[in-house]
Amino acid sequence: MTDPLMHTYGRLDVAFEKGEGAWLVDDKGRRYLDALSGLGVVALGHANQAVANTISNQAGALLHTSNLYRVPWQEKLAAKLAQVSGMDNMFFANSGAEANECAIKISRLYGKQRGIENPTIIVTESSFHGRTLATLTATGSRKVQAGFEPLVNGFVRVPFNDAEAVRKVAKNSNSIVAVMLEPVQGEGGIKVPDENYLKELRAICDENEWFLVLDEVQSGNGRTGTYFAYQQSGIMPDIVTTAKGLGNGIPIGVCLARGKASEVFKPGNHGSTFGGNPLACAVGYTVVSEIVSRHLPERAAELGDRMLAGFRERLGKRNNVKNIRGKGLMIGIELDEPCGELVQKALEKGLLINVTADKVIRLLPPLIISDEEADQIVNMVCDLVEAV
Ligand code: PLP
Repeated sequence: MTDPLMHTYGRLDVAFEKGEGAWLVDDKGRRYLDALSGLGVVALGHANQAVANTISNQAGALLHTSNLYRVPWQEKLAAKLAQVSGMDNMFFANSGAEANECAIKISRLYGKQRGIENPTIIVTESSFHGRTLATLTATGSRKVQAGFEPLVNGFVRVPFNDAEAVRKVAKNSNSIVAVMLEPVQGEGGIKVPDENYLKELRAICDENEWFLVLDEVQSGNGRTGTYFAYQQSGIMPDIVTTAKGLGNGIPIGVCLARGKASEVFKPGNHGSTFGGNPLACAVGYTVVSEIVSRHLPERAAELGDRMLAGFRERLGKRNNVKNIRGKGLMIGIELDEPCGELVQKALEKGLLINVTADKVIRLLPPLIISDEEADQIVNMVCDLVEAV
């Protein structure tokens, strides 16, 4: 029989049936420690009771009405996110890529409103912004783009963590409207920029009246030690996007805007059938409330420090380990050669990890893991690296 699924994923041969906290159980009853949270999504852990209750209550009350009418859960979640982020208003979508599409459209329309004919957005090398045509064009990876040309116009690329390169573009172009980047690169290999990078970009954007657009689809929702990663840099973006951890598994994305960026769209400029439906927003509200009231960003910072110290102690002097880095519970261990096979080896030992950028072991565990679970992840990953 032919496979009825399109071949878009290289899947591991395992199927999970249930989960609890940081643990998953497969269809043969085997338990796995989840150090990946479904690629940074299940921040509150699997089968979180508050999320389950919200889904069940909301499913019994109302799932969908459309954006032709007021959606009270959208308004409540927006007020909550505005409070935790300092942003002014927002648009709800269904995924990270869609949230970024919204950010790109706001930036372009802002350019058009200022008389710029070909609004252009500066993006960075080794970035990841999604798989739609505009977001894959913004993505700094040939692998993601190859075969889908013609790509979308209106992007120029600079190296990541290089504010000077952005200054140079500013001198040579009158079409720039925004700089778009991840404050910590995820798919690119958990790359943490220098402390002043965002501040410098903020200053360049201010000098040139550009928007600073931060993609916090992966780094947001407490993962790096604050609700959003930019909150550690003492700056405010004009636009920030997030998704993944916001729904703990229910699809939701959001594009938040501030100041001038919050006034660009007018009715008719953007929309989505499903975006911001009562179910997704009720869940988002529960997730944000849990993250904040349980102080999970602070906990992520503490756990991240603990895990990085553990990795550095055991792996710091190994020749095959090039770098150990991270912010909160976004952790990367870069080896000196491609190490994709470690994902299968970890699975066989009952641990879920990921390898990105060919050589970087990526860990994005749920924010609710215990100290013991964090130590267990460190020990298991160290065993794997030592056996390479
Ligand atoms: N932006 C970043 C930083 C991401 O890490 C991802 C997904 O990995 C995306 C955007 C795309 O999100 P989605 O897969 O929900 O479209």
